[in-house]
Amino acid sequence: MNLRHYRGLRVPVLLLSSIACAATAQAAETAKPQDAGFNPLEFFAPLQLPAPANAIRDGGGKPGALFWQNRADYDLHATIDPASHTLTGQETITYTNHSPDALDVLWVQLDQNIYRDDARAKFVRAPWRRPGQPVTPTPSTQGFEIASIELEQGGKRTKADYLVDDTRMRVDLPTALAAKDGTVKLHINYRYTVPGTWGGRTAVTPTKNGDIYEIAQWYPRMAVYDDVRGWDTQPYLGSEFYLEYGDFDYAVTVPWDYIVAGSGALTNGDEVLTATQRARLKQADGSDKTVMIRTPAEVTDPASRPKTSGTQTWRFHMDHTRDVAFAASPAFVWDAARIDLPQGKHALAMSVYPVEGASNWVRSTEYVKGAIEHFSNKWYSYPWPVAVNLGGHGAGMEYPGIVFDGYDDKDDKLFWITAHELGHGWFPMIVGSNERRHAFMDEGFNTFIDVYASDEFNHGEYGPKRDGEYAPKGGNPVDEILPVLADHDAPTLMDLADATSEKYRHPVTYFKGALGLVLLREQILGPARFDPAFRKYIATWAYKHPTPSDFFRFMESESGEDLSWWWRGWYFNNWQLDMGIQAAHYVDGDVAKGVAVTLESEQKLVMPVILRIDYTDGTHEDRRIPVETWIQRSAPELTFPTTKPIARLELDPDHALPDADRGNNTSSLGI
Ligand SMILES: [Zn+2]
Repeated sequence: MNLRHYRGLRVPVLLLSSIACAATAQAAETAKPQDAGFNPLEFFAPLQLPAPANAIRDGGGKPGALFWQNRADYDLHATIDPASHTLTGQETITYTNHSPDALDVLWVQLDQNIYRDDARAKFVRAPWRRPGQPVTPTPSTQGFEIASIELEQGGKRTKADYLVDDTRMRVDLPTALAAKDGTVKLHINYRYTVPGTWGGRTAVTPTKNGDIYEIAQWYPRMAVYDDVRGWDTQPYLGSEFYLEYGDFDYAVTVPWDYIVAGSGALTNGDEVLTATQRARLKQADGSDKTVMIRTPAEVTDPASRPKTSGTQTWRFHMDHTRDVAFAASPAFVWDAARIDLPQGKHALAMSVYPVEGASNWVRSTEYVKGAIEHFSNKWYSYPWPVAVNLGGHGAGMEYPGIVFDGYDDKDDKLFWITAHELGHGWFPMIVGSNERRHAFMDEGFNTFIDVYASDEFNHGEYGPKRDGEYAPKGGNPVDEILPVLADHDAPTLMDLADATSEKYRHPVTYFKGALGLVLLREQILGPARFDPAFRKYIATWAYKHPTPSDFFRFMESESGEDLSWWWRGWYFNNWQLDMGIQAAHYVDGDVAKGVAVTLESEQKLVMPVILRIDYTDGTHEDRRIPVETWIQRSAPELTFPTTKPIARLELDPDHALPDADRGNNTSSLGI
């Protein structure tokens, strides 16, 4: 998700306005910085992580010998009625209980209910209004209207008893679902009205050549039952998702003139595409350059569709995914190019957008290809057959294999939003952390990998990444983060996503979350230790549900470093950093005997740092001061065997650390 999300919401946007909420005050309580000043015992104290290590999640942060995870496979059919803006769905969920517990109920997520007038989400934030204007009624829908639910257990199909509460539904099982591999099928018939652009993540948007449907959270989805807390049934208040993995078959029935672009592989192109379009897709499949599948001029040409009346059903398949989403419209221009993946594999980059966005989006597919290739080469190979960028009203929202962006974005903004939303393919679509509780493992991790994608794309054409997510003022990130660290009301990265108000969502979750990993990679561990560990973390937890504790343990075990102090200072607290040189002198007053340097820390956080010794002859040498320097002393004195006259000493000469006050970082040895 991204900043752009909120523009489209026009609030009611309501879901996600910029007004602080009562819950934030609570979050801030935990984030109040303690008295400033470094304390070695507090800083280096053993860190008790929130979740214990055990045989399910082990001490090395990996799935343990007894690890289990449940599974949900879906068979879905949606029909869109353009006249009423409704989606009618038939769903079959096959749910497999790998847990050691028999389950007598199932919990299902009904995310469309967030748009109901009585949704809990509407009470979380103050209603948005234009300054000086009266409060206007918040738009709403009826949410999911459930027509029927049937259970299929042991070969018998029966009507299910269920209870809907806000965005959750409990389905009672007459016979408990057996532990260790019991399965049950849920057959659900439903409909809902697609919200307008005020729906944000999912919406219908009018354009010159017809409506664009951005369809997500569109079917009842299984809640996660896990070893961490059993059924995870946090209501949908506007934060993101936590979902089970499985395989999906889905079909979308739309009027004949619609194009559908969705997660996974289109399996009936022979039926829904013209011969020309199939030939162009084949060409794109072998092309590094973007190939037009449907040109702007063809959008209003009936010959660009294989039939000229009635409806068509588009069929898709996607394996190993936690969700599917799609976009449908008669207005789509469509282009594509091949994505080159490691080990000679490939996928297809595609963009669909209305003619209004055609000039802005002319390079969209190039951006999709570049971002996916970068993430795949650097971290973990993209596992799905297509990656689609949709130009819609500007949701700035990610789903597996498809992202919803804005057709009026262009140039660097379009590259950054495209790379960001596609980066979510890795976090949280491949590595399925609980976004609703641990937003930093979603937005922070993704923004971190986006930083390097921007540096690399087309030899740095759009680097460095400087946008609403990362150093928004365009300067040095370690300087721009300082006000966030100094803000006593700011939540920590560990605070609940829903309790983090809009004011802090980007500065803390995205920016501080990403910078934490940049500093860990570049200043604490170094890429040679960070990169293999982070790659292995992704591969180990692909299609699984790691917790923050798993991540912290994994990175320590794999990088070979006890990082308790870093997790404590940056993640569990908003500790500030202000290291300095308190005093410096030649040993015994003799230039030839070396230099003695006393360090100080005015704040609670210290980090490994470079001390640069500039000699009067114009040369310099850099000494790395490890964090252990501070393990027993709050004003450590260090001596270095220098033999030449020193002009100047400087801590952090490359301006790489978030040092609150650089006024005490230099010394000229009293000269
Ligand atoms: Zn995001």
